[in-house]
Amino acid sequence: MMGCIFCRIIRREAPAHIVYEDEHTLAFLDINPCSPGHTLIIPKLHAQRLEDLPEEEAIALFRTLHRLIEPIQRAVGADSTTIGINNGPESGQEVPHIHIHVIPRFRGDGGGIIQGVARLWRRPTRGEMERIARRIRNLVGT
Ligand code: AMP
Ligand code: ZN
Repeated sequence: MMGCIFCRIIRREAPAHIVYEDEHTLAFLDINPCSPGHTLIIPKLHAQRLEDLPEEEAIALFRTLHRLIEPIQRAVGADSTTIGINNGPESGQEVPHIHIHVIPRFRGDGGGIIQGVARLWRRPTRGEMERIARRIRNLVGT
């Protein structure tokens, strides 16, 4: 897409510290890293959300993620990584071109966990959980 900053990086119209590229995906360092080695993995096809991507592109994205985790960790001496997607504006997504964050994590780095991103105002009841699960099952279909 014309004005998209990540599409511009793909076309080499904007600078980036690129670490990996293949036919379907590109990976580069986040310009404002949470930790050393913080990397973004993107599909070359412009789409805002994971569910907007054709299945094959989503698979290619995950393949690249799987391939890059160990090199990223080893390059910065990290023990672990936090991997996440801000999928849509309400989740805090700012760049409307889907990207997987790979954030190297270090013992005692003071960071949080993925489950800390949202806070329930109360715990759903067992009945509510059952209804939600049933609704999801119905919507997934086959
Ligand atoms: P979000 O959309 O909330 O997942 O965040 C977008 C991420 O992209 C942020 O972590 C930014 O630091 C990063 N970012 C934005 N512009 C660039 C750029 N030109 N090169 C590398 N990273 C970028
Ligand atoms: Zn784009």
